[in-house]
Amino acid sequence: MSQLPYDPAENEVFWERIRQLPGFPKEDAIPLRQMIFEPGAIFRLPEILRSAEVRFSIPVLAVMDATPMRRGDDSLKPLVIRVLRQAGWEVEPFVLEADATGQVHTDMPHIEAVKARLSPEKAVVSIGSGVVTDITKHACYLFEMETKHPIRFIVYQTANSVSAYTSNLAPVFIEGVKRTLPSRYPDALVCDLETLRDAPLDMTIAGVGDLLAAFVALADWYLADQLGFVDNYSPLAELLMGPLDELLLEQAEAIRNGSLEAMALLAKLISLGGLVMSLYHDTTPLSGYEHVMSHVLDLQSELTGRPFALHGTQVALTSILGAAAYQQFLEHFEPDAVAVNDCFPPQDAMQQMVFSTFHAIDPSDKAGQECWSDYRLKLQKWHDRRGKFEVFLKNWSAIKPELTSRTRSPDYLKRIFAAVGGPCNFAQLAPPADEETVRFAFLNAPLIRKRITLGDLLIFLRWDREKLWQRVWHSTQSC
Ligand SMILES: [Zn+2]
Repeated sequence: MSQLPYDPAENEVFWERIRQLPGFPKEDAIPLRQMIFEPGAIFRLPEILRSAEVRFSIPVLAVMDATPMRRGDDSLKPLVIRVLRQAGWEVEPFVLEADATGQVHTDMPHIEAVKARLSPEKAVVSIGSGVVTDITKHACYLFEMETKHPIRFIVYQTANSVSAYTSNLAPVFIEGVKRTLPSRYPDALVCDLETLRDAPLDMTIAGVGDLLAAFVALADWYLADQLGFVDNYSPLAELLMGPLDELLLEQAEAIRNGSLEAMALLAKLISLGGLVMSLYHDTTPLSGYEHVMSHVLDLQSELTGRPFALHGTQVALTSILGAAAYQQFLEHFEPDAVAVNDCFPPQDAMQQMVFSTFHAIDPSDKAGQECWSDYRLKLQKWHDRRGKFEVFLKNWSAIKPELTSRTRSPDYLKRIFAAVGGPCNFAQLAPPADEETVRFAFLNAPLIRKRITLGDLLIFLRWDREKLWQRVWHSTQSC
């Protein structure tokens, strides 16, 4: 049986141990001290608030969406509110409204709506999954930035669905494009195992899916380091996540059956995933080519008014595509055959490519403008780092095994995801995505943001990406 090398439930011991790891930002103030992963944790909420110095005289804003949730025989949200009221707090519930698609998205109108409810004399508890947590977190962050008044913020996690809960970053939709903004940590994280068990299985499956991103993103991050695009690469992320794939595969059945121990393990892995990104102040370690593909799928949904698929489930499927792309690249890349001069497209050609690509799905060109503003920075950096690329080509024989060790075969990722009950292809995704939509994301994801991934390298290398797409699609979509 595989073991978690660093257990966040150990709190003080955990922080003490991970401080010693290479790459830990020792200069950072990290307010998140308490993370609990226990059966009955809901009834420890009053104690958690007290230890976060929330006095009884301070009203608590409880932010949630309108989705009914259960915990055993109880309706969850009223139960949380009752626990706090019975302990002596005045609780002000605030319900976020869904938009026309029936979903709540992390956007500025929702963030502003929460922010308007804040005051220096309030504490905040978010009761929800990723979107509710992100909206609330970012509202607290902006309020603190503007007023300089600290707000106590406790996360009550309602599903093992996404690595958002312990993250000090917030993904926010701006002109339909997802941007990751600096935000803040919660002061405490409460994972009540019965709540996580009684969450819809689809959300738990999504949580596993979001973690599978590691097997594309960690390779992309290493690649970015080798190409001179990042200066903060360290083994911290891999050490913290431990034998992630083995843990997920061993526990898959228990996760699917909702055993409390498996709920605790998954919640811990998800919290570690959030922490990895927080400690780097950047999502890069767990967000590479697979996440940009997922963002482009979301962008297409947004523009056509379709509801989004669950983030992590979609990310699992794009991770499988990304892993298949890596497999092809690692097998067929020949650095000696590269004509270096041809790998540096001029700005105007790429600007035209970005605008014409996104014009096809957003004739207002707002998305194109937003994408180009980020992409041009990457293109400039690529030109500036030409020497690094030349060294990369020379060192390929040493780089190849490093990349190989950080990714996994698409079949292996499919096996893990199937074992927890995840869909095996895009036709099974809810809502489904058709081949043309996924193809658009696979080919154009690199154009939306400044982070470099395998997808960019393939463009710069003038790889036959149509042929690659055909192979990747046909080798990954059978069940
Ligand atoms: Zn994600």
